[in-house]
Amino acid sequence: MGDNDGHPKHHCGVFGVFGHPEAAKLTYLGLYALQHRGQEGAGIVCAGNGRLNGHRGVGLVSDVFKPHKLGRLKGDRAIGHVRYSTFGSNNLKNVQPLMADYAKGSMALGHNGNLVNAGALRDDLEERGGAIFQSTTDSEVIIQLIARSRKERFPDAVIEALRKVIGAYSIVALDNHCMVAARDPLGFRPLWIGRRGGATIFASETCALDIIDADWVREIEPGEVVVVTQDGMESYKPFEQVTPKPCIFEFIYVARPDSEIFGQSVDEVRKRLGRNLAKLAPVDADIVMSVPDSSNQAALGYAHESGIPFDMGFIRNHYVGRTFIEPDQSIRDFGVKIKLNAARSAIQGKRVVLIDDSIVRGTTSKKIIKVLRRCGVEEIHFRISAPPIINSCFYGIDTPDRERLIASQMSVEEIRQYLGVDSLVFMTIDGLLDAAGGNKDQYCTACFTNQYPTMLPSDFDRKEKDAPRHLDTSTELFF
Ligand code: SF4
Repeated sequence: MGDNDGHPKHHCGVFGVFGHPEAAKLTYLGLYALQHRGQEGAGIVCAGNGRLNGHRGVGLVSDVFKPHKLGRLKGDRAIGHVRYSTFGSNNLKNVQPLMADYAKGSMALGHNGNLVNAGALRDDLEERGGAIFQSTTDSEVIIQLIARSRKERFPDAVIEALRKVIGAYSIVALDNHCMVAARDPLGFRPLWIGRRGGATIFASETCALDIIDADWVREIEPGEVVVVTQDGMESYKPFEQVTPKPCIFEFIYVARPDSEIFGQSVDEVRKRLGRNLAKLAPVDADIVMSVPDSSNQAALGYAHESGIPFDMGFIRNHYVGRTFIEPDQSIRDFGVKIKLNAARSAIQGKRVVLIDDSIVRGTTSKKIIKVLRRCGVEEIHFRISAPPIINSCFYGIDTPDRERLIASQMSVEEIRQYLGVDSLVFMTIDGLLDAAGGNKDQYCTACFTNQYPTMLPSDFDRKEKDAPRHLDTSTELFF
């Protein structure tokens, strides 16, 4: 369903263009397509005439960029970012791309993901390195590490910085000479390379390549660093190779269904989730309906598999502005009623299978169920295309603390009673992995299984900061 509707918030999206005279405008369009990944802030930084120029603001892409602002961003290279406040508060200082001037020039960085050792690195940089931070984002740690690198070339400094951080990052970075795009060795977040004429494009999802008519070239591999200069594109694998763990929740909820990520169509994975749910938990009912929009594909998959007709029982208001996208509990509750209304004639007196992609706190689901009951629905069979979320995410999806996750506090039967539905079934881990076409070693599933693929932020407190890490940061670069 999205946004503040009781589902995990998304995180961030990044975009980059190298070698196009309208780089800022293409980036603006790319950010539009990535708006679902972050709605609290947006920014674009352009390189041209030997300097970096940026504009950032709080709000939706359309709020932040008016024609005169965009028109001022000149240059044939640009990076852009849309943001949710997964780390650091939601204010202008934290909106990306972050920009910095340092001894070797100027740079800008857009980061999707969260670093698990950002706090420890920040403490070190402040206490031992005398660093002064401008923002409260973990991404600024990368900027500080780049600025402190003794490497001459910008890409080498970026790589040196990335060797020190642990966690999730898909980044685009820019200086006056080149653009660098990189994915962490575990490849938590997606990042694509595209091409439009002679220009190289980077984008979190393919939907952002489509909007500017760019060809899909390939996904950047986990642990890969791609460098674009006027001489062309180079690829490096400077980190120790580990088994990638892309975030399986990208398929369930985060990515747009018209995107392809981690080698698979999101639309197809979501439909398979729905089919698997129908096999796992069949029920006699009159209609299958979704909590729009992110559950639409799973509901279609359930309908196809079960033979029960799909109907639009809920109508979503797509014109809700930023007023209802504040990270604040009271507004969040209000937002549910603003965003969804039931199509009474479609559901009255019916036995419905209601599909949603996840349950976080449970408060929003309860309100949705209440709306259906008020419209005279006869039976509600609630089916969730994700397994119960029992743990927080530390890699860039904004889930609340464990204690506030309903599935970590109640059994499925207790949740059913709390929500007031006739039956409740969650997807199983096996059904999820089957839909995503992989096994448990191929994805991060930590919020469902507690099997985190890295150390956690709490492991990096001052006493333990010398403990072994999953990445060997001592290996020399090979180029
Ligand atoms: S913990 Fe969950 S949401 Fe976070 S990266 Fe892993 S699968 Fe994705």
